[in-house]
Amino acid sequence: MARRPIVAGNWKMNKTVGEALTLVREVRGMVSMVRDKVEVVMAPPFTALPAVAKAIEDSNIGLAAQNCFWEVSGAYTGEISAPMLAEVGCTYVIIGHSERRQHFGETDETVNRRVKAVVDSELLPIICIGETLAEREGGRTLEVVTRQLTGALSGFDGAQAARFVIAYEPVWAIGTGRNATSSQAQEVHAHIREQLTSLFDREISQQVRIQYGGSVKPDNAADLMSKPDVDGALVGGASLKAADFAAIVKAARVES
Ligand code: PEP
Repeated sequence: MARRPIVAGNWKMNKTVGEALTLVREVRGMVSMVRDKVEVVMAPPFTALPAVAKAIEDSNIGLAAQNCFWEVSGAYTGEISAPMLAEVGCTYVIIGHSERRQHFGETDETVNRRVKAVVDSELLPIICIGETLAEREGGRTLEVVTRQLTGALSGFDGAQAARFVIAYEPVWAIGTGRNATSSQAQEVHAHIREQLTSLFDREISQQVRIQYGGSVKPDNAADLMSKPDVDGALVGGASLKAADFAAIVKAARVES
């Protein structure tokens, strides 16, 4: 079945509100011609979400947050809840990014709790999974992504999971300039889809979009996204430059 590719820009902890508006206005003009053939999403920092939401009104760009807490409200200083993100116009929330696993103690269990909060607020998760260099070199890549995927999806049924986005992001490729080859990406993406078939069924697994993330740039995007199980990209560094991000969006493989 044809899956609509999804290309999302993870701005991480970059851009003031003013800088965010400059970037989003540039990107908006550059990606309008893909119309609805490619789903384009931007994930600015929390502080820029309301301004970016306004700047993408009536465009083909959607809004994502980079994280959320699992409780709805309460004494959790410094946290942001899913209903707060829904209120400011988010459609997606990135959950379980490796930087959160590495620096902020995110585990498969807390990823699962956050995904539940996202779904309860009628938002959609972009669930990040991926192995470290040591895990890859130890031959444990497929085992690690299986564990992360199964943990994140615990308690969800197929109808819910079919709408989720999975981002396969090998940790050794994030921000390093060293991307996975398209064959390495395809191997893991096909494995993730097989696991989705085991957890749910083939009809569901064929609907789930699996993005590749890790040093995606204009010069490697088309090759990576040419693979049959690679349904778009989660882009970090290159999403901070309008022309680079737009070039990646335009490189997405569109099924006719
Ligand atoms: C990311 O942050 O999800 C990412 C893939 O970063 P980069 O593209 O910079 O490797």
